[in-house]
Amino acid sequence: MSDTAQHIALPLKYRPMTFDDVVGQEHVVKTLRHAIEAGRVANAYLFIGPRGIGKTTLSRIFAKALNCQNPRGVEPCGECVNCREIAAGRSLDVTELDAASHNKVDDVKPIIETVGFKPASSRYKIYIIDECHMLSSAAWNALLKTLEEPPPHVRFIFATTEGDKVLPTIISRCQRFDLRRIQTNDIVSRLRHVCDCEGIVAEEDALLAIARGAEGGMRDALSSLDQLISFKGDKVTEEDALGVFGLVSRAALETLAGAILSGDTAQILSSIEVFDSAGKNMRRLSGELLQHFRNLVVVQALGPGAKSLTATPDQIKVLVEQAKSVDAGRVFRICDQIADMEDKLRYVLSVRTLIEMSLIRASRIATTATIEELMRAVRALRTDGGAANIEIRMPQKAAPAQATVEAASPSPEPQSAACESAKSSGAINRHDILNDDKLNDILSIFPGSTIVDIKETR
Ligand SMILES: [Zn+2]
Repeated sequence: MSDTAQHIALPLKYRPMTFDDVVGQEHVVKTLRHAIEAGRVANAYLFIGPRGIGKTTLSRIFAKALNCQNPRGVEPCGECVNCREIAAGRSLDVTELDAASHNKVDDVKPIIETVGFKPASSRYKIYIIDECHMLSSAAWNALLKTLEEPPPHVRFIFATTEGDKVLPTIISRCQRFDLRRIQTNDIVSRLRHVCDCEGIVAEEDALLAIARGAEGGMRDALSSLDQLISFKGDKVTEEDALGVFGLVSRAALETLAGAILSGDTAQILSSIEVFDSAGKNMRRLSGELLQHFRNLVVVQALGPGAKSLTATPDQIKVLVEQAKSVDAGRVFRICDQIADMEDKLRYVLSVRTLIEMSLIRASRIATTATIEELMRAVRALRTDGGAANIEIRMPQKAAPAQATVEAASPSPEPQSAACESAKSSGAINRHDILNDDKLNDILSIFPGSTIVDIKETR
C-alpha cells in the first residue's frame, strides 16, 4: 500500500458496487435482477439478516440500479450523476433513514410529506430505512397509509437485523428477503482477492482465521484484515490473525476433534490445557468444535463436494479422513453433547472444567457402540450360526445400570466397582438373549441406555 495515498478503510474500498460484486447472497441478487429486467419492481422490499452481511450495500446497489441513467443490463453504471450521488449519500431522490437513532413520528414525517412529489432527476423516489424494527409503533402507523397505497414513483427498502420484531402488517406489504451469513470459504476467497489487489502476502490459514473470527460478516472480516495489515505490515500469518480473535489454530482444533473421535482422553486434556493457558476464547472453541462436527456430518451424509459444507479445501481433506473412522450415528451424538455443553457454558463459572468433562464424555460417546451397531453384530452372529453370549449385567436395586448397559447420565463413580459388584451378585449371562424382542425389553428397562459390551462365546 502506498504511504502517500490517503488510506481508505478496506470495507469501504472493497464495498460491492454492482450486483455482481455481492458475495454470498445469490438468491436475493437473482430475484432483484429479475424484477428489474422484467419491469416488475415491488413497492417495498424488506431485507433481513445479521449485521455486516451487506443489507445496506445491497439497498444502495438496488437504488442505483433503479435510478441509473445508463444501466448496463440491470447493473448500475456507477458513473452517472445519479449513481455517484447515491453512492455519496446525497441524492435528492434517495433518502436514507437510520431508524436506530431516528425512530419517532417526527423522523418519518419528512417521508410522508415528500412522497407526493415527483422525483427531481430520477425515475423513482426511493426511501431506504435501516434498522426499521426500531421505528416506534406510532412511526409505523404514520407510514402505514403510504405503504398501503404508495404513489407509482415511490419505492421503499427496509433493512433490519431483527425480522421478528417487524409487525406482520408491514411484512405483508413488502417483498421479504432473508440474507444469509456469508460462508467462510466465500469470505476467504474475497479476502484473497483483496490481498492480491493490495499486494499483501497472507497465509491461507490466516485468511481462514479472519473469516472464522468474522462469523459470516464480510464487513467485519475486511475490518480485521485492515487492522492486521496496519499492525503487521504486508505479511499476514495465521498466528497474527488467531491472536486478534483469541481463536485456536485450524490444526489444533482438528487435533482436538481427532482426539474426541478416537477417545484419547490424554490428548483432550492436554489440548484444553494449552488453549486455556494461551488465553484462547473457550466459548468460541466450543462453537467451532460444533461447527467441525457439523461439517463431519455433512461430509458423511453428502460427501466432500456438498454445497452446505462451510470449509476450505484444507479443512475438507481432514474432514474426509475423519469421516472414514467413525459411524455417523456417533458423530450425531457428539454434536448433541457439544451443543448441550454450549448451552451450559452460559451459566457456569468454571468454563474449562465443563469443557474438559463434556469433551471426555463426548469422546466416550464416540467410542461406545450404538444400539444399531449392536443389533447388526447380533444379526451377524446369528447368521454365522455361532453361539453368542451377550452379557447384560443387571443392576442391584439401588445401583444404576452402570457396567455394561450405560445409563444416559452416568454417575461419576468409577465403573469398575459397579461392574465387579454386578458380576458377583447380579450378572446374568443369557444365551437366549439373541431374540431381538427380549433384548429390546431389557434395554427398555433403562431409558436412554446403550449397550457398551458384546462378547462372543468361543
Ligand atoms: Zn449510473
